[in-house]
Amino acid sequence: MIIVMSPTASQQAIDRVVSEIERMGSQAHLSKGQFRTVVGAVGEEGGLDQNHIASLDGVEKVMPIMAPYKLASREFHDEDSVVEVGGGSVPIVKVGGAHAACIAGPCAVENQQMLNRIAREVRAGGATILRGGAFKPRTSPYSFQGRGEDALKWMRDCGDELGMPIVTEVMDTRQVELIEKYADMFQIGARNMQNFDLLREVGKTRKAVLLKRGLAATVKDWLLSAEYVLSQGNRKVILCERGIKTFEDTIRYSMDITSIPVVRQLSHLPVIVDPSHAAGRRDYVPSLAAAGIAAGAHGIIVECHYCPSEAQCDGPQALLPATFAELMKQLRQIALLFNKEFSEATETVSA
Ligand code: PEP
Ligand code: MN
Repeated sequence: MIIVMSPTASQQAIDRVVSEIERMGSQAHLSKGQFRTVVGAVGEEGGLDQNHIASLDGVEKVMPIMAPYKLASREFHDEDSVVEVGGGSVPIVKVGGAHAACIAGPCAVENQQMLNRIAREVRAGGATILRGGAFKPRTSPYSFQGRGEDALKWMRDCGDELGMPIVTEVMDTRQVELIEKYADMFQIGARNMQNFDLLREVGKTRKAVLLKRGLAATVKDWLLSAEYVLSQGNRKVILCERGIKTFEDTIRYSMDITSIPVVRQLSHLPVIVDPSHAAGRRDYVPSLAAAGIAAGAHGIIVECHYCPSEAQCDGPQALLPATFAELMKQLRQIALLFNKEFSEATETVSA
């Protein structure tokens, strides 16, 4: 349920509500809006005495949250969430609300030299966050599986040198500790969207989480997966639409453009699109990226390579750096039409 505090409620009154929720065995999550604080009480159903909470000082009203994904819902948090990625050794990049972000880089980090070259090119083209896989989820166990910790080190060095936060995929709970040491944001891949233990584990960290939509997941499934992360106290979740399986076979996956306005209506979380994995071919990537931004997405994640035929993974969908830079010019204009901006990273440290 949500407890809406009156605009004049004191901090002491808010603290009391939180401690009463915890005493009754639920968790309290605060959502501080411009005018008032809303407290979300989440726990096993039936454990809370609603009348008692309603009688506490400073409480204006108590309402049930109808959506099954409580903390991800707009009922709990009305305003768009802005997720900060980075900080520390790299600038912070904001994603959400009026802030759109471009994440780009290779599919997999194959060696240090290719990473450094691609990173420079995508940064010059307008990317502010660097992507690159160190552990790759491959359909065949005999395909290239990634360079592991070496790749994480190269990513960290490269991100620090260029002033770009880095994002990389985590596939298993056993990798969380290692990846947390290096990365600014965890990527949960489509195939792991319902790996609930993994979601809980990244939820215990305070690093941002890029949660891809599963290949056959509904919007509700996707938001419930986000809820696993949020329920552990990590509020930095960014959703990513990357296409779903349909009967269409001219493309790799069908990018569900509809999910963008739907998710934005149901949830306060930022949502970006991944046109590369949806399309599977570079010639479709710009149209899908443009459509995603026009539909209300808070940015894109795209794969780039200076020589796609050399790539060990996902070469056919990698954009050439010049095409990427051209695309970013268009996306900036489209974003402005929808009151968003692909801003530069700021040097400020999170409040
Ligand atoms: C990737 O980003 O390289 C990737 C494997 O993505 P997805 O999980 O969306 O297939
Ligand atoms: Mn890929």
